[in-house]
Amino acid sequence: MNKQEKENIIKQVGLKIEYGEEPVHSIDRHKYLTVGDSKHSEILALYISENKSMQKIANQQNRSVATIHKQIKDHDEAVARSGFCPQCKRVHGLYETELTVKKEGKISGLT
Ligand SMILES: [Zn+2]
Repeated sequence: MNKQEKENIIKQVGLKIEYGEEPVHSIDRHKYLTVGDSKHSEILALYISENKSMQKIANQQNRSVATIHKQIKDHDEAVARSGFCPQCKRVHGLYETELTVKKEGKISGLT
C-alpha cells in the first residue's frame, strides 16, 4: 500500500492519525567509524597515485584492512557500473572515473 492509498483510507474512515516518519538515528560512533566522502577519496588517492598497499593505507589511516578494501571495492563497482564514483564525485576527487585496477600486475613487483 502506498502513501496515497493510506491517506485515502484514513480520510474514508474519518480517522486522523498522526504518524510521523521514522526519525533518522545518528550514527553510533562507538560501534562504527564511518568513512566519509573525503576520507574515501583520500584512501583512493593513496591507493592509486601513491601505489600504496591496502595494509599500508590501513596502518596510516588507523583503519582496518577490510575498511580500506571496502572503499576500493565500492569505488571500482561504482565506476564499473555508472562510469563514476558518487563518493569521489561529491568531493571532486581526482579519481572519480578511474578504476583502481592496476595496469601492471602486482606480482611482477615482488622480485
Ligand atoms: Zn570513489
